[in-house]
Amino acid sequence: MTRIAIIGGGVSGLAAAFTLEEHRRAGTVEYTVYEASSRLGGVLRTEHIQGCLVEAGPDSFITEKPWAADLCRALGLGDQLIGSNDADRKTYIFVRGRLIPMPDGLMFMVPTKILPTAFSPLFSWSTKVRMAQELFHPPRSADSDESVASFVERHYGGEMVDRLADPLLSGIYGGEAASLGVRAVLPRFAEMERTHGSLGRAMLAARKKSPHPSNQSAPPLFTSLKNGMQQLTDTLMAKLNPSSLLINTLVQAAKAEAGGWTISSALESRQYDSIILAVPALSAARILSTCSPELSGELAAIGCTSSITVGLGYDRDVRHSLPPGFGFLVPRNEGKRLLAATFVHNKFPYRAPNDRALLRCFFAGSNADNIWQLSDDAIIAIVRNELQQILGLRAMPLFARVRKWKSAMAQYGVGHLERLDRIERLRRHFPGLALAGNGYRGIGIPDCIRSGNDAARQVLNP
Ligand SMILES: Cc1cc2nc3c(=O)[nH]c(=O)nc-3n(C[C@H](O)[C@H](O)[C@H](O)COP(=O)(O)OP(=O)(O)OC[C@H]3O[C@@H](n4cnc5c(N)ncnc54)[C@H](O)[C@@H]3O)c2cc1C
Repeated sequence: MTRIAIIGGGVSGLAAAFTLEEHRRAGTVEYTVYEASSRLGGVLRTEHIQGCLVEAGPDSFITEKPWAADLCRALGLGDQLIGSNDADRKTYIFVRGRLIPMPDGLMFMVPTKILPTAFSPLFSWSTKVRMAQELFHPPRSADSDESVASFVERHYGGEMVDRLADPLLSGIYGGEAASLGVRAVLPRFAEMERTHGSLGRAMLAARKKSPHPSNQSAPPLFTSLKNGMQQLTDTLMAKLNPSSLLINTLVQAAKAEAGGWTISSALESRQYDSIILAVPALSAARILSTCSPELSGELAAIGCTSSITVGLGYDRDVRHSLPPGFGFLVPRNEGKRLLAATFVHNKFPYRAPNDRALLRCFFAGSNADNIWQLSDDAIIAIVRNELQQILGLRAMPLFARVRKWKSAMAQYGVGHLERLDRIERLRRHFPGLALAGNGYRGIGIPDCIRSGNDAARQVLNP
């Protein structure tokens, strides 16, 4: 019988436990999930307020990466998967006091349709000229990593960084384009530059080969669950052995000794053959600090940011007054604290009754740190004030819910992939140690689930 400890009861740890569950039933494995907080699920948290479904953490996952939808189907949730309303997909950027729609045909920041971009007021003429010149960008294989900001600036200039790349990445990583590394964050674009030079030409070539030609409907960009993202972790939990799940149990340290591992929490120490650290990289660093200061140092160097979400419900009048589309992003140099807001009632079905509007506002990184100590009421006042300035929205919300997530989003800085190689070399000194979670090879839910599955397979076949 192999004894395995999983530290962290978020979606990564629960996915690992689910992979181990069939081995537990077969009698070959025993596992224990340690979760510091009073609930399992990590940042996946859904609340039902006045008929609205309010996501405190993630609201969906990207459809293109299969591991989350595959897990949902394995859990019997296939008929609960819902797609984003892409027919209504429109995202605005708040520039110089007004909301400007992102032009049709932009793939992240790469224009693939000439006319909508050429006539868009989102970019100045000098940026539009840069976009045309970009088509002649020569192939380049860089020796070293660089920041996303410098990569985008080389292709399209600084305005593209400020107005598009930085706000789009802030919504995903909570971090700034100037500190994120292009090889880990935009690997596809780094590869396009190596093979084609021009991102525009590479994107057009890829579209020609696309399995979804324009006469076929493409799958929705985002996928969620009818009852919200917590439906995934609740269902996972229900499939696991209840006596294997320990909540309110903070793991303080893991020590490799006598061919196995000792896990210490405030209450006791227990022995295991293998451990899976499915916690944010900074927590993993703390847990391993006495066992391997070197590995711990590398893990701690993977940065992280905090974020705050604010869900706001409004009445029918507000719903009719809001612009169509999925919501807006706010570039940092516009002097606002809000980074993004989603019009949830437009983005997904089953989120709000027809006579309600549901908004989800997002702060991250330094914008979240600057208001972290404020009360919920003070944060709601900031949100309302900025929504008034951006949308002209003065109405009193029917409800407002603030959620704070401390250091929950990893930051893949410049040189992240080289750091992962060093981490892997150090990890190999500790057979029976596996790492999972958003600190390594993908911050989104599908990648986290894949990391949990892989970690479970790794400890089963060390
Ligand atoms: C506000 C927000 C919005 C997001 N939106 C999206 C989105 O729309 N789509 C998407 O794909 N991704 C999104 N993400 C990212 C994604 O949700 C996360 O990367 C992913 O859920 C992380 O899961 P995890 O299990 O690795 O970590 P977590 O969910 O952070 O879980 C880790 C768990 O470990 C526990 N823990 C930590 N230290 C210890 C310890 N010492 N002992 C015991 N337990 C410990 C914590 O309490 C926590 O429950 C979002 C993230 C946030 C914060």
